[in-house]
Amino acid sequence: MSAFDIYCQLDGMLSGSVFCDEPMARYTSFRIGGPAALFIECATVSDITRTLEVVRQNDMPWMVVGKGSNLLVSDDGFNGAVISLGSEFKKFAFPDREQDENLLVAGAGAILSNLVQAAFKNGYSGFEFAVGIPGTLGGALFMNAGSANEWIGSIVDWVTVFSPESGLKRYRGEELDWGYRHSGIRHDEIVLECGLRITPGHTGQIRARMEASLKRRRKTQPLTLPSAGSVFRNPEGDSAGRIIEELGFKGYKVGGAEVSSLHANFIVNTGNAKAWDVVEIITQIRKRVKEEYDRELQPEIRFVGFPL
Ligand SMILES: Cc1cc2nc3c(=O)[nH]c(=O)nc-3n(C[C@H](O)[C@H](O)[C@H](O)COP(=O)(O)OP(=O)(O)OC[C@H]3O[C@@H](n4cnc5c(N)ncnc54)[C@H](O)[C@@H]3O)c2cc1C
Repeated sequence: MSAFDIYCQLDGMLSGSVFCDEPMARYTSFRIGGPAALFIECATVSDITRTLEVVRQNDMPWMVVGKGSNLLVSDDGFNGAVISLGSEFKKFAFPDREQDENLLVAGAGAILSNLVQAAFKNGYSGFEFAVGIPGTLGGALFMNAGSANEWIGSIVDWVTVFSPESGLKRYRGEELDWGYRHSGIRHDEIVLECGLRITPGHTGQIRARMEASLKRRRKTQPLTLPSAGSVFRNPEGDSAGRIIEELGFKGYKVGGAEVSSLHANFIVNTGNAKAWDVVEIITQIRKRVKEEYDRELQPEIRFVGFPL
C-alpha cells in the first residue's frame, strides 16, 4: 500500500492532522531535511494507537519527533511515518502547594523552555539548568538533555510511555538507565507524560541561575543560525569542541554548512545547507581526529533517513 493510501486510511480518523510528503526541514532546528512520507500530528493517545495500528499493518517504518532540535534528516527525507505529539500532550500542571508531593506533571509535547519559565514564575526550582535547551520534554527525556553536570533524568519521578508491543507503561525514574545523553527509553517507546520533582525556591536565586546559564549560552553558542546543538558527544574527560578547534576546523565550510567560529562542536546552516554538506563535515572531522589522536568522535545528533 502506498503512503497516500495509508494517508487516506488515517485522514478523518484522528483528532490530529495527517500530511503526505511533508518537508522535514520545517520541523528541524537545522532547517534541513527532505520529505517524510507521512507526518502525523497525534492529538490524543487514541490517535497514537490508531496511527500505529495502521502504519504497522502496512509495514511502514515510524518514528516520533519533538522539535527536531537534535536531528539531521537526510535530503531524501524519511520513507515512513513521523509522529509528532499534539494538543493533549502539551499540557502541564504545578502541584497544589497544600500537598506534600512537589511534582510538575507535564505532557511530552510541552516545550521545555516553557516549563522552565513557568516553574520560575510559580517559584519552583529544580531545572534552571534546562533554560535555553530547545525542544520538547519528550525529546529531552529521550536524550537525557542537560548541561555538563546536570541532566533531566535526575529530577524524573516517573515517565509514562506507550509502545505498540506493551501498550501503556509507567517507569519509576530510578528504573531507567540514565547516562550521558542516554535514558534507556527504547526506540519503540513514545514518551507521553512525566512527573518532574521540583522544589519551592527563592525567585531571585532561580532568576540568577537562569540568567547566568543563558548568558553563558549566548556567549559561547551560535544561536542566530540554524543548528542542532552539539554535533559530537564529549569524549570522557575532554571536550569535542576543544579537539575540533585544535585541528583548525572553525569556519570550515562545505556547501551551505559551516563549523561555527564561536563553538567548534556546532555546525551551522548558513542558508541553504544540504544534509550531505553536514555529513561531509562530520566525516572530515572524524577522519582527522582519528588520524591525529587515534580517537573516534561519536555523534550526539541523531540521523534520520540515512542508509544504515
Ligand atoms: C542551539 C541548541 C542548543 C542545544 N543545547 C543543548 C544542551 O545544552 N543540552 C542538551 O542536552 N541538548 C542540547 N541541544 C540538543 C537538543 O535541544 C536536545 O537534545 C533536545 O532535548 C531535543 O528535544 P527535541 O524535542 O527537539 O527532540 P528531537 O530532536 O525531535 O528528537 C530527539 C530524539 O528524541 C526522540 N523523541 C522525541 N520526542 C520523543 C517522545 N515523545 N518519546 C520518545 N522519543 C522521543 C526522537 O525520536 C529522537 O530520537 C541543543 C540544540 C540546539 C539547536
